[in-house]
Amino acid sequence: MTVPLAERASGEPTGTVSEQVCAAVLARARRELSPSQFDMWFAQLAPGELGGDALELLVPSAYVKSWLLAHHLALITESARQVLGPSARIRLRAARVERVGDGSGDGVERGGRRKSMPVPEDQASLDDALGEGASAFPSRYTFDTFIPGPSNKFAHAAALAVAEAPPSKAYNPVFVYGGVGLGKTHLLFAIANHMTALQPRTRARYVTSESFMTEFIKAVRERRGYQFQRQYRDVDVLLLDDVQFLGRAEETQTEFFHTFNHLHQHERQIVIASDRPPQELGGIEERLRSRFRSGLVVDVQPPDLETRIAILQLKALRDALEVPDDVLHFIASKFEQNIRELEGALLRVHAFASVTRQQVDLALAERALEDLIPDLGQEIPPAAILEETAEYFGLGPGDLVSKSRSRPLTTARHVAMYLLRELTGLSLIKIGELFERDHTTALHGIKKIEGLMPARGSTYKQVQELTKKIRARGRGDR
Ligand code: ADP
Ligand code: MG
Repeated sequence: MTVPLAERASGEPTGTVSEQVCAAVLARARRELSPSQFDMWFAQLAPGELGGDALELLVPSAYVKSWLLAHHLALITESARQVLGPSARIRLRAARVERVGDGSGDGVERGGRRKSMPVPEDQASLDDALGEGASAFPSRYTFDTFIPGPSNKFAHAAALAVAEAPPSKAYNPVFVYGGVGLGKTHLLFAIANHMTALQPRTRARYVTSESFMTEFIKAVRERRGYQFQRQYRDVDVLLLDDVQFLGRAEETQTEFFHTFNHLHQHERQIVIASDRPPQELGGIEERLRSRFRSGLVVDVQPPDLETRIAILQLKALRDALEVPDDVLHFIASKFEQNIRELEGALLRVHAFASVTRQQVDLALAERALEDLIPDLGQEIPPAAILEETAEYFGLGPGDLVSKSRSRPLTTARHVAMYLLRELTGLSLIKIGELFERDHTTALHGIKKIEGLMPARGSTYKQVQELTKKIRARGRGDR
């Protein structure tokens, strides 16, 4: 439902709207945060009044207010906008309040909240948002959750500069490049989240070059070229991810070239992420590559040990996983090249402890990660994952892709999706495509396995055994 805020007179009582917004924020916070975090920061949130063009939410103290602003602003604005529409503005006010409305929900959804709950539909489409008119971006990718270190400090600083002072003429475009799983997409979303938090009217658009291409081709076919152009030109900031895939499509490149020029001339910010530097973008015309080089080009490198430990600490904290420091240190020392794998390793250790009902300690972590540690520079071809998974589950080559929804097939498919996500650099779109499905289906499958691993020994075992086989195959052990 959308209530046009602007049409309401200032000061008019807005009990219901305000309560709805409050309830939406609480529901989302309860879904995304651990119970202890929720209790600490959100339990006392209360609906306030409408003043000017902003809706107030009441918080118990100035301290809570500043914490929420610093850490959960995206969560709050996004959920409020789902009730009020994309341009709504929210203000937090510190005030003593009696508990109003529901908002308590004590006990409900708490015990098994993390991961074991199915992903709600809206969450699925937000995550790795494809820019389909979405004004909200996945809220877990912010600057608060990004650990800066020597390996990414320039990219981090550039991203922050762009996010705080758009349009920054000196840095336009910003071109970030680096290997798989090193935080490029995270930074793009962090920029979008930060800008829309600071200035809710900012029109930010995130798109992968693959989606840009697909949408463009579709628009041409359906004679909606003009609408397509407006979608990408009437924005304040355009975040183009995985630009290396633009290489194959000439006409899309031309369209992007004009989009780029239009935005640049109008001093709109452009940020591009790539797996390689501009000069190595094979298949991309020189005039585009030179545009990419014309701003600020920064790289991200694999993080050093200290940064990796800090990333794991933050991940453990956010997911409320109790993992001792020496274990975090151990994991960080073994997974060096890809932060997604690093985080995946932490989840596996937690899952192993959970399914075997043991404490997490060093010995357990060593066992959980035995034979899983990647070799330097080992690249896993997606086809190997598909083949091994099919073989492991006793399926034929076409079964994983088939439309059948029988239980064993679905499980095998979800496991394959999970492994593709953790072990390769494929985007959700690409993973979906491998199964002739869309990215939300891929995300759903991945979340499903993340949730099942700590809960069900059989799933944990399947994922572990398969990973070992896949890694061994990559090493040529068989
Ligand atoms: P890329 O786009 O470079 O392949 P992503 O942005 O998808 O990588 O990052 C992979 C995972 O690692 C994400 O879960 C992201 O949140 C996390 N990550 C990457 N860099 C950092 C960092 N510096 N601090 C915290 N998390 C990070
Ligand atoms: Mg990425």
